[in-house]
Amino acid sequence: MNVQKNDIVTVTIEDIENDGLGIGRTNEGFTLFVKDAVMGDTVQAKILKLKKNYGFAKLEKVVTPSPFRVQPPCPFHRQCGGCQLQALSYEKQLMYKQAKIRNNLIRIGGFSPDCIDACMESIVGMENPLRYRNKAQYPVGTDREGRIVAGFYAGRTHTIVPNTDCLLETEENREILQIILDHLRRHHISAYDENTGKGLVRHILIRKGFTSREIMVCLILNHRPVKKLTQASFHKPGAPVDFSFLEKQNELLQKLSQVEGMTSVSVNLNTERTNVIMGKEVYTIWGKPAISDTIHVRDMTKPGYPFTGKELTFSISPLSFYQVNPVQTEKLYSLALEFAGLTGRETVWDLYCGIGTISLFLAQRAGKVYGVEVIPQAVSDARINAERNGIKNAEFFLGKAGEPLETAGHPDVIVVDPPRKGCDEICLNTIWHMQPDKIVYVSCDSATLARDLKILCGGGYEIKRIRGVDQFGMTVHVETVVQLYHQKSTEYFHVDYEPKNGDYLDKMPATATYREIKQWVYDNYNGMKVSSLYVAQIKQKYGIIERECYNKRKLENARVPQCPSDKKAAIEAALKHFKMI
Ligand code: SAH
Repeated sequence: MNVQKNDIVTVTIEDIENDGLGIGRTNEGFTLFVKDAVMGDTVQAKILKLKKNYGFAKLEKVVTPSPFRVQPPCPFHRQCGGCQLQALSYEKQLMYKQAKIRNNLIRIGGFSPDCIDACMESIVGMENPLRYRNKAQYPVGTDREGRIVAGFYAGRTHTIVPNTDCLLETEENREILQIILDHLRRHHISAYDENTGKGLVRHILIRKGFTSREIMVCLILNHRPVKKLTQASFHKPGAPVDFSFLEKQNELLQKLSQVEGMTSVSVNLNTERTNVIMGKEVYTIWGKPAISDTIHVRDMTKPGYPFTGKELTFSISPLSFYQVNPVQTEKLYSLALEFAGLTGRETVWDLYCGIGTISLFLAQRAGKVYGVEVIPQAVSDARINAERNGIKNAEFFLGKAGEPLETAGHPDVIVVDPPRKGCDEICLNTIWHMQPDKIVYVSCDSATLARDLKILCGGGYEIKRIRGVDQFGMTVHVETVVQLYHQKSTEYFHVDYEPKNGDYLDKMPATATYREIKQWVYDNYNGMKVSSLYVAQIKQKYGIIERECYNKRKLENARVPQCPSDKKAAIEAALKHFKMI
């Protein structure tokens, strides 16, 4: 290797990796990752860090711009950690995201390129990839001159880049932030300091209902509940709470209330020294405790995805999860609904349901929908949302996705929409055991999606359709919706087993769950860890998985790891122990 740290080298950028760094090669063939460079560029870059076979470099100068390079619309695009792809044309961003999904499915999922290409449809892009976010969380801090500022964190740091007009956010934010910052400056109210844990104002949250045009502002303060506050109940509207420590509260509220669309102003208390933005307590100090927004159902089979005339209205409080790009969310949910292929009779489980948005979409065309969500506030929001929309065939449970639903019937379709880390093991195990005819997987991380699909396809599911939806223009993130069918092949011995209420997982006669098998191996084989995939492979070998795996051969071709002999022996011992073989 004949490159040194701090060298300035010429690099030809060939592609962009999953986190947005340009991947290029020097003339000598050494690989460098260059932030802010796009495929097709030839750039000069300064080497910052060297590893054995590659290095990281900083873009110094674009020598020959790529045909895909555009002028980034935001002046802060290089400092701010929010966007990674602003210098890439939007059309090429979509191609990059399509390729990212495909590559992850092949590389991590182990699927053959042919299999993926046969199922993959063209990504659903945005009409306008700027000003699309309905939610902004601006950190508040102090600059070098001691002035209070709000902005965004610089990439991979907690240094605030002052900016009150992020181009992904709505235009009203600028005015709102200016009012709040002026107020804080005028009354010498302090910003929170992460290093010392002192100071009052941590973040400013702004949300907007794109259809309702209602705006919500929530100030996140580093303050313990005061006596008066502890008497105010959670999300209580009505009598204003007096935040004497906020000083001249009414002066601030009077100004904020003049912003067009202002509907709700609240305070959230968070004294924890963590990166988690919101605390648990919210007090409405002006207006309503929540804003509302409407999501329309679209026909995803027609060009331009026209509205079908059906719509749902949701209540959004400061703590509720709500998709950040409402226009693309309509397309995402409509696609999930289309992939579910409902006729009006089906029982559907919507796991990781949040405030019940997808569940209520599905309920319009299903017999019954059961939503499962782990956050109590979201579950109660989901119930309120069902009532608000007059939907009677949706029921919501508080719990972990995949935990037995005692009163829910056997699912015909299971929809999952997990966070970035993907489905929990218990969720995947339950899906395997329940064997719904169809699974719709909505994912915000194609790497964990690929990992989970590999497991599901190892259990008899076949991917039928894959479609990306760009919810996050200018960033590397992309949503994916996948439709899986159970392969009910007649070639295989088929036990027609219909579980009754709660009659699965731990309660299945003479079988052990994947978790139990893995635990037994761990306990009896010196802490040996075996994956669900390996357990499945051995179960298949002994014909325990009654509906054979359609993707098995395909997966073998695609070099899915095969269970090594020591783990095979351990799993067989476990199966014997549980009298399964
Ligand atoms: N489908 C919803 C929410 C998706 S976000 C929507 O589109 O709005 C993922 C949700 O999963 C979050 O609401 C999160 O609280 C919830 N969640 C995370 N882990 C969970 C688990 N183990 N079981 C159930 N829900 C979980």
